[in-house]
Amino acid sequence: MAESVKEVDLHVHTTASDGSMSPAEVVTHAKEKGLRAIAITDHDTVEGVEEGMRAGRESRLEVIPGVELSVDFSKGTMHLLGYYIDPHCAELVEKLMVVQRGRAERNIKMVKRLQDLGVDIDLSEVRGLAGHGQIGRPHFARIIVQKGYARSIQDAFDRFLHKGGPAYVEKFRFPPEEAMRFIAKAGGLAALAHPFTLNKLQEGELEDLVVELKKEGLEGIEVYYPDHTEEQRRLYRYLAQKYKLFIAGGSDFHGLNREGVELGEGLRDMEFPYRLVEELKRRRKALFRGKNL
Ligand SMILES: [Zn+2]
Ligand SMILES: [Zn+2]
Repeated sequence: MAESVKEVDLHVHTTASDGSMSPAEVVTHAKEKGLRAIAITDHDTVEGVEEGMRAGRESRLEVIPGVELSVDFSKGTMHLLGYYIDPHCAELVEKLMVVQRGRAERNIKMVKRLQDLGVDIDLSEVRGLAGHGQIGRPHFARIIVQKGYARSIQDAFDRFLHKGGPAYVEKFRFPPEEAMRFIAKAGGLAALAHPFTLNKLQEGELEDLVVELKKEGLEGIEVYYPDHTEEQRRLYRYLAQKYKLFIAGGSDFHGLNREGVELGEGLRDMEFPYRLVEELKRRRKALFRGKNL
């Protein structure tokens, strides 16, 4: 059998969200790995895109401007990838700011809840732990454990932080249809990321969901992803073909912040051919025909 093809990676995080490498470092790394193209898809921000594209031009690596949005989905976790978004689109920038503001308010509320529960904690401590990255519940958990209010991270989640728990505050998220609308407004193509995190969908429910999302503007689905089993991959590929969605694939690279994941690599036999990018470009042309690209 031919060696698996590793030419692109369409799902990459940088220090603009929760990756450990700056956009320029990611580009250098991708170049070293022999890749031809990557998409920078940070969580709810496009702040790493420009630096990444500049570095890409300098080192002749194709960098696709992207984003990964967490959207509202009650049954599990739904992330949408946006490819070829214009990072300067005013509406996109404004919507992302709403998300960031929501995140900041959530952190303040969670600190307040914990204080009310008798936990000695303040926001600067949480911020200190998160460094330049985005603050999340694991940071709160670590402080709770350090200060002896819980025995372990799991215990901190069980006592305080689990969904619905006494210190838990819901995150602000846009509904998927709205997120897809502003991705399109920014010239981007929306794809459903790692469908396995949608969770506990009964037989046929994923297909119904894909049909719904497609009506609202979904263009692609992430088929190649390190956590997908062969069976899942087959199902997602089938859905892509049936509903004429482009196939995306990436490692969800986070640098040192996610162990065991390398750029352009997932499971042993996972393929990341440049063909994925060609198809994406064809689609973009067809979709935005007549507009200046
Ligand atoms: Zn994700
Ligand atoms: Zn991701």
